[in-house]
Amino acid sequence: MRQGRPRSVGRLVTLIENASPALPEITAALSRLPGEAYVVGLTGPPGVGKSTTAAALVAVLRAQGQRVGVLAVDPTSPFSGGAVLGDRVRMQQHALDPEVHIRSMATRGHLGGLAVAAAQALRVLAAAGCTTVVVETVGVGQSEVDVAALADVTVVLLAPGMGDGVQAAKAGILEVADVLVVNKADRDGTRAVVRELRNALALTPRPEGVWHPPVLTTVASEGTGVAELVAALDRFRAGAVASGEAGRRRGERARREVEGLALALLQDRLQTTAGHSLDQLAEAVRDGRTDPYAAAAALVAELLA
Ligand code: GDP
Repeated sequence: MRQGRPRSVGRLVTLIENASPALPEITAALSRLPGEAYVVGLTGPPGVGKSTTAAALVAVLRAQGQRVGVLAVDPTSPFSGGAVLGDRVRMQQHALDPEVHIRSMATRGHLGGLAVAAAQALRVLAAAGCTTVVVETVGVGQSEVDVAALADVTVVLLAPGMGDGVQAAKAGILEVADVLVVNKADRDGTRAVVRELRNALALTPRPEGVWHPPVLTTVASEGTGVAELVAALDRFRAGAVASGEAGRRRGERARREVEGLALALLQDRLQTTAGHSLDQLAEAVRDGRTDPYAAAAALVAELLA
């Protein structure tokens, strides 16, 4: 894996995805390895052009000589293991490039949830020498926010003709966006969406000297505007490193990871070692011998004893 062998990288990610019993050992080994990747989160509604943009980004980054990872996270699908990306024509131009590692991950009852599993996969890709990893997520909502927390920089993609500007503001998307991209800029209505987004951004003014999310336009299917997107990502990175924001985000990411895993371990113990107590307490609540809060407190006390 350290040599970036695609098969080894793929197998490690699969072990993570399948919540292999060897996971604690793998994670421990990974955490001792050098290698840091700039994690670019790419998110937005289905059909907006995320995988097309990811492929176009990979092309620019490869031309710079970088080794690149692409992790497609689909919190809405139980399928994974390349099933999603295998079907994606956009990525096929990179499928045979050994310097590009492409994987998908989906919900599978991971210890600590998908975001924690994705964080481990990111470690693998970084240790395998990827200097940039594009994390692509599907859907709008909490899952997106969780995955945004994994990224060093979050790009929100929108497209004209979807009433997107307003929707994005409503969904709280503007808060997680470091860079906004109106893709499909070859279509009518692009300027209206750009204007709408700039107006929405102006409503939440940011102080001088703080990063102001730019609104860019791209035609991902033709690669237009993608070099400018990469330049914006580089600018953001330089600023975030200088201001300490980059370190703060990484700290927050580590915190979520530990928290997610700790909660998962507790839940596991609740089912195993305290399973009998849980049954008894549930019965007591059902029969009116105790109340749910008291029962939960008793269970927690037992777990922590
Ligand atoms: P995703 O679901 O967000 O990953 O979207 P895809 O990347 O699969 O793109 C959805 C559709 O939009 C595909 O048919 C793409 O070819 C098309 N598409 C992507 N980018 C552009 C663009 O810039 N202009 C136009 N006209 N179509 C695009």
